[in-house]
Amino acid sequence: MTDALESSPPLDLPLDAHALRADFPVLARTVHDRPLVYLDNAATTQKPQVVLDALDRYYGEYNSNVHRGVHRLSQEATEAFEAARITVQRFLGAAASHEIVFTRGTTESVNLVANAWGRANVGAGDEILVTEMEHHSNIVPWQMLCEAVGATLKVLPMDDRGELRMERLDDLLTERTRLVAVVHVSNALGTWNPVETIIGRAHAVGALVLVDGAQSIPHLPVDVQRLDADFYALSGHKAYGPMGIGVLYGKAAVLDAMPPWQGGGDMIRMVTFEKTTYGELPCKFEAGTPDVAGAIGLAAAFDYVEGIGRGRIAAHEADLLEYGTRVLGEIPEVRFIGTADRKAAVLSLLFEGVHPHDVGTILDREGVAVRTGHHCAYPVMQHFGIPATTRASLALYNTREDLDALVRALTRVREVFA
Ligand code: PMP
Repeated sequence: MTDALESSPPLDLPLDAHALRADFPVLARTVHDRPLVYLDNAATTQKPQVVLDALDRYYGEYNSNVHRGVHRLSQEATEAFEAARITVQRFLGAAASHEIVFTRGTTESVNLVANAWGRANVGAGDEILVTEMEHHSNIVPWQMLCEAVGATLKVLPMDDRGELRMERLDDLLTERTRLVAVVHVSNALGTWNPVETIIGRAHAVGALVLVDGAQSIPHLPVDVQRLDADFYALSGHKAYGPMGIGVLYGKAAVLDAMPPWQGGGDMIRMVTFEKTTYGELPCKFEAGTPDVAGAIGLAAAFDYVEGIGRGRIAAHEADLLEYGTRVLGEIPEVRFIGTADRKAAVLSLLFEGVHPHDVGTILDREGVAVRTGHHCAYPVMQHFGIPATTRASLALYNTREDLDALVRALTRVREVFA
C-alpha cells in the first residue's frame, strides 16, 4: 500500500528532533520536578511558537469579524482567513479552496456529513458501513442517522493484530451501501488502514467514503485527490494547530448537492420570512462567526509541518516506532495491543497485573505523559476483552530518549507493584 508517500519530500536529510524541540515552548517545562516527556500526541499535540505567534498577531493586531466588514481590520482578517483556507487546500491536495470547510474538529466534520448529506441521501433499508476500529466520533453520528431514517449500520471487523479483515469487505458492501466511514490511522491501535483500496471498492458499488483523518494528518502525507476520498475529516489540534478548529474536505460536486446543516449568519444569500436561499461553498456550511484565529493558527501549523517535510516526519516517527516497539517489547510484562504490519506512531500496551490507570499515574510521577483508557474506541476494547490500554503516541519532536524514559518509568511500575 503506497497511499501518498511517494509525493513526500526527500528523506535524505533526517529530521533533527532535538533541535526542533526548541520550537515548542511547553516541552521545556518540568512535571513533578522532572523534565516533561510528552507522549500523548494522539490526544493532542503541542504547539510550535510560530502557531502561538500567529494567534497572538491576529488578536493583537487585526482582530475583527470576517466577510462582513468594509473596514481595514475586517479586510485583513478576511484575507488571512481565506489565505488559511488555501493553505489547507494545498496541504490536503484538494482541487479547490471552496472544498475546504472549517469546522470545530473531526467530530463536527463527521456530524456535518451525517446530518447534511446523510439526511438527504440515506433512507430506510440503506446501509452505512463503518469499521470495528472507529473512534466513537465516527460511529455515533452514523448510528444516530441510521436510527432516525431506518437505515442499518454494518461493521467491517478486524483481526487480533488490529488489521481490517479486508477479505470481508466485498460481502459487506452491497448496492444498499450509501457510505463507508473509515479511519485512516487508528488512534487506539496505530493501524494505518488501506483506505485507497476501500475507497475503490466502495465506489464500485456506488457508495461514498468519509475518511477520518484525525490521526493520519499529523503523521503521513495525505492527498485527498489521489485517495479519491469523497470526504476527509481532521482536527487542527492533533496536527500542531490550535484547539477548536478542524476541517471537512468534500468534493465540490458532493458538497454542492448537499443541503446546509446549521442555519445562521454568513451561510445565506437572501433571507425573507417566506424563503431563504443559501450561499455558495464553503459559506453554506459555515454558519455564524468562525474561529478566525483558529484557522490562521492551523495554516501556520501546516506551513510549519510542510517546512520540515511530511515525508521526513513520517520517516522519523517510523524509526521511533520501530525503536519503541523493540525496547518496550523487551519488558516481560508488556503486551502490545495493535500489532498491524503497517502502523503509525502509536504504542498501545498492557502491563501485566497492573491496571492502565495505575500505570499512567506512576508514569506521570516520573514526568511521562501517556494516555490511559478506552481511547473513545469501546468496540476496540471489547474486541480484545480489556477495559483500557496505556498508550504512548509520538510526534515529530519525540526522541529515542523519550522512549528510554518511558522504559525507565515502566520499570518503576514494576518496582511499585512488585
Ligand atoms: N477520530 C480519531 C481517530 C481520533 O483520534 C479523534 C480524537 N481522539 C477523533 C476522531 C475526534 O477528534 P476531535 O475530538 O478533535 O473532534
